[in-house]
Amino acid sequence: MASFEQQSIFNQLPQQEIQTEDYSKKERINFLKDEINKSNYKYYVEENPYLSDFEYDSMFAELKELEEKYPQYKTPDSPTQRVGSVSEKFFSHKHKYRLYSLDNTYNAEELTAWYERVCKEYGKELELVCELKIDGLAIALTYEKGLFTLGVTRGDGITGENITQNLKTIKAVPLKLFEDKNLEVRGEIYMPKSSFEKLNEEALKTGEKVFANPRNAASGSLRQLDSTITAKRDLSMFTYTGIFEDESDKDIKTHYEGMQYLKKLGFKVNPNIRLVKNIQGAIDYCKEWETKRFELGYATDGVVIKVNDIAIQKDLGYTARAPKWATAFKFPPEEVSTKLLDIELNTGKTGIVTPVAVLEPVLLAGSTVSRASLHNFDEIKRLDIRIGDTVLIKKAAEIIPKVIKVMDSDIHNSLPIYQAPKVCPACGEPLVEREGEVGLYCSNKNCSQLMCAKIEYWASKEAMDIEYVGPSLIQQLYERKLISNPPDLYRLTIDDLMTLENIKDKSASNIYNSIQESKTRPLNRLVTALGIRHVGKETADILTGEFPSLDMLENASLEQLSNLEGIGEIIAKSIHNYFKDENNLKLINELKELGLNPQGAISKKSNIFEGKTFVLTGTLPNMTRDEASEIIKSHGGKTSSSVSKNTSYVLAGENAGSKLDKAQNLGVIILTENDFLEMIKE
Ligand code: NAD
Repeated sequence: MASFEQQSIFNQLPQQEIQTEDYSKKERINFLKDEINKSNYKYYVEENPYLSDFEYDSMFAELKELEEKYPQYKTPDSPTQRVGSVSEKFFSHKHKYRLYSLDNTYNAEELTAWYERVCKEYGKELELVCELKIDGLAIALTYEKGLFTLGVTRGDGITGENITQNLKTIKAVPLKLFEDKNLEVRGEIYMPKSSFEKLNEEALKTGEKVFANPRNAASGSLRQLDSTITAKRDLSMFTYTGIFEDESDKDIKTHYEGMQYLKKLGFKVNPNIRLVKNIQGAIDYCKEWETKRFELGYATDGVVIKVNDIAIQKDLGYTARAPKWATAFKFPPEEVSTKLLDIELNTGKTGIVTPVAVLEPVLLAGSTVSRASLHNFDEIKRLDIRIGDTVLIKKAAEIIPKVIKVMDSDIHNSLPIYQAPKVCPACGEPLVEREGEVGLYCSNKNCSQLMCAKIEYWASKEAMDIEYVGPSLIQQLYERKLISNPPDLYRLTIDDLMTLENIKDKSASNIYNSIQESKTRPLNRLVTALGIRHVGKETADILTGEFPSLDMLENASLEQLSNLEGIGEIIAKSIHNYFKDENNLKLINELKELGLNPQGAISKKSNIFEGKTFVLTGTLPNMTRDEASEIIKSHGGKTSSSVSKNTSYVLAGENAGSKLDKAQNLGVIILTENDFLEMIKE
């Protein structure tokens, strides 16, 4: 796995900061100390970081390494000797037990080196506990005789902010425990991803502060002077440590036991905690969660690995800033900053012109990224993105990276404000707005880029699934005037194809055959391929279930369409309008003449799944999820994207995540691909 390979954490630093031979080490150390202190303040107090976490961690690691090599320059005020920062927004409170940060590791080698260091003194392998590192805000909660009495932020580890009132508004913070215990617990306050998105959507409408990530949103919501605002935000907490003060709890000998006990007392403990025998178990856990984390409803930035035995933890002790008995394995960053070199414009199949960020290549979540989505021109204006800015980009599973904010910089104000285009970048025709829609559209129905995008979509996996026919082939065919719309694909001859660069007879006949073979695709795929506005695969399935031929669809009334379950007024209108347009009817006739006129809904093979709802999760060994869902539908079943008590089966493959956990909790039947195929055979 790429991220487990040794990565150079210095290659992200700005050019002028790279050391030259005669660069004074002391000066470099001072520069790093200042920069880290400044960013600590921005991050912890102002909640408005100007560095990405990855850049911060890179600088921090460099400072640590330099201080180890040149201890004469290490000072007690160095950020490597301290934790966080305290603000003066709330009453400060001195912690009874100090709170620490965690040292970081980035790969299997560093993890193993840490483990070997801790085991050396004991001459044996030590058991470890692996936990997800929740990306939120650390707090310490005090319970006296089972009652919640005090809640304090971590602050600088010695002193924090008293935010008891705000914490009382969070349901996952128990006000009274199931037993009258005296203890202090530590936990991470976080905001679920969906609530974070909702909060930002609302903020956009009302012009309030938009948060860059769920961590900032959690911190901003928790550190409100008015606790009624905190109460309105959807915050939660996972507890990850307990300091038990009662004599009766002295026989808790391991961290794992402690966590089980916290659960019994009423705390929310992350269900993915795992006890492992040695470092290999921890490495396996990290690898597993590096991809599975994207299926979670909350953000995690790594795994925390802790020695299980509490006596050994005490014996190992702490450095100035972190326990020696624990370490964090940091996942490759999901967010990183880089320079915006240009804004490229693309005209899509609906005519919409989308801006794409062209970036200085940067490593993000294990791969190099040089392009990112900018959504639309309103978003560019809202974020005030200018070419030449340093921008923060983010990637989540299977989602194209997107630009989420402009980092503060001295040059931003001197850069020209970005102006949205007035004409189509491909054909030069004016761009127009459409009522009720965000975005700018090319007004030319025959725009070359629009037509190519339409043909690309036609041939795509989601639609007619034509093997070998991708963007560059389509581009060439279009430029040579061999095709100008989807039906033209079916008019191509092997000789036409052989006129293209690098296409010999074998590949020409492969392309020809796969185009011809696509004529047999079922009606739902053909309807998807038409690219009717608002009609994707799911809607095409609904439509063709009710109107099983192109003729029937063409003649469906607006009323009939809007009466279909799952089809609202806007979609119904769009379909109805499509079949009223002369050009579209001409295209459909051409298709029919070329032999593309499938009849019937997805050809039903049986009714064995009638009334059954499937949820698919993870990677199946021999088929894609799309293929599996077509099989389900062809046997009368339905698919859904979320697990509930109405789910009949969860079909789970490798790296299945939270859906599988939920299915297990609800007692839903879980099928492997093999079980599924057996059911069909029967
Ligand atoms: P950290 O977040 O890397 O690790 C320590 C924290 O992990 C703990 O305090 C605790 O809150 C949390 N945690 C989550 N789950 C846990 C679990 N299961 N067990 C134990 N702890 C758990 O360290 P930090 O000191 O809070 O913050 C430093 C990090 O913050 C940096 O590495 C950087 O990524 C980020 N930071 C960024 C900037 C910036 O400008 N971008 C500035 C300061 C800090």
